[in-house]
Amino acid sequence: MIEVLSVASEAYPLIKTGGLADVAGALPGALGAHGVSMRTLIPGYPAVMREASAGRVVYEFNDLFGAWARLVAGRFAGLDLLVLDASHLYDRPGGPYAGPDGRDFADNWMRFAALSWVAGKLALGIVEGYRPQIVHAHDWQAGLAPAYIKYGPTDQVKTVMTVHNLVFQGHFGWDVFGQLDLPPHAYYESVEYYGGVGFLKAGLATADAITTVSPTYAREIRTPAFGAGLDGLINARASVLSGITNGIDVGAWDPSTDAELPQGYSANTLHKRAANKTAIRERFGLEATDGPLFAVVSRLTSQKGIDLITANVDWLVSLGATLMILGSGDGQLEADLLAAAGRHAGRVAMYRGYDEGLSHLIQGGADAILIPSRFEPCGLTQLYGLRYGCVPVVARVGGLADTVIDANEAAVEAGVATGVQFSPVASEALGEAIKRTVDLFRNEKVWRKMQRRGMKADVSWSGSARKYANLYASLLGQERDEQFGD
Ligand code: ADP
Repeated sequence: MIEVLSVASEAYPLIKTGGLADVAGALPGALGAHGVSMRTLIPGYPAVMREASAGRVVYEFNDLFGAWARLVAGRFAGLDLLVLDASHLYDRPGGPYAGPDGRDFADNWMRFAALSWVAGKLALGIVEGYRPQIVHAHDWQAGLAPAYIKYGPTDQVKTVMTVHNLVFQGHFGWDVFGQLDLPPHAYYESVEYYGGVGFLKAGLATADAITTVSPTYAREIRTPAFGAGLDGLINARASVLSGITNGIDVGAWDPSTDAELPQGYSANTLHKRAANKTAIRERFGLEATDGPLFAVVSRLTSQKGIDLITANVDWLVSLGATLMILGSGDGQLEADLLAAAGRHAGRVAMYRGYDEGLSHLIQGGADAILIPSRFEPCGLTQLYGLRYGCVPVVARVGGLADTVIDANEAAVEAGVATGVQFSPVASEALGEAIKRTVDLFRNEKVWRKMQRRGMKADVSWSGSARKYANLYASLLGQERDEQFGD
């Protein structure tokens, strides 16, 4: 077995704000079959400590960035966790990064430097009987972990830096550097970023391997348009960069057993989905038109192209379609969508907020899901859509481009289409895609085939887990055993 320590600031089902949590929660389970044992180091937020309070204390720190802290080990919520119980850093109301008022915690640099610093110590074997061979850091919150290891006393432990979204970089003032417990030369070699400290930048500069969550995104971030200021560094490190597409938890997301659905169904009983569509319509007062029920399940941000949806609402309704929106985020985007729902009562409905259960119902009842992202490292929503027969209508970027097969004439003819892609990411192109989707929907035979095809696509973690396992093995200079495949 290869021992890997995953370092993540979120892991489903304990704590989640986005796709990173899904990955950190699902990957460990999928890696077992590929000869990898993965433990996860996670901050002891209140929601995590509620589960972990009965765990085993495996280490105590007298002074972890200013106060006492400890590591609690155990299996919680199905995950093999090392929880960093540090009340001065994590025991506070709000989300993982921001308080109840929505403002980022001022000491986020310290909260996540501490997480990474502890990962560096774990790599040295501070917990008896445990020493990882690989430390796998996720996003900027864990970005310093590869740096602590590189500048630490051993280079035996290899590091992987995974970028789930390059836009979030953990950029702080230069003055925090002195408190990070890194040697001075680390500043100019790796950590310095535009005159300050860049946590993700440090990880990208020091990790033995860099991955992103889809091959297309791995190519895109080498360009100025998607590189968010780091494309120069990423190009310099291109030889260790690869893209591994995310899977989804096909146990939690299974339309035949999903407890959130009034009516379960499979690819062979697609007609049963109608009951779920009715449930959505009744709950949100949507009329039963003969056009498709489109859905949006998303953070409401500019990245997600939500303004393009607003621009197309009237058009969508004029085509006889209806629209169900689940999301929260940017105040202006929320207001615009609520206004559109008010204007088109019975045709457009919006639930403002975050509701996991409702996201399942929507995937299990709506006909198509709109994902007009300006960039999308991988995206999970389209994968849930494929799995649930909720046809994804996506911008041709990042992981959306890698996972959806556009219903162009040749693909429909060959019976391989699973959704609709559009490009460029602009209002008119989305409008055309919506029209194309409405036309496809009206051809029931073609539509059903597309739904079935999507439902049969392999969106599980097994293929991606094999790729991660192979990456870990290659970093350790190991040949993979036959039993684990290539
Ligand atoms: P990102 O991580 O950029 O937000 P992803 O598509 O990778 O985008 O992952 C988003 C995840 O969050 C998916 O699991 C999606 O279903 C979920 N999600 C987003 N908004 C909501 C919401 N308002 N309610 C429930 N789930 C949501």
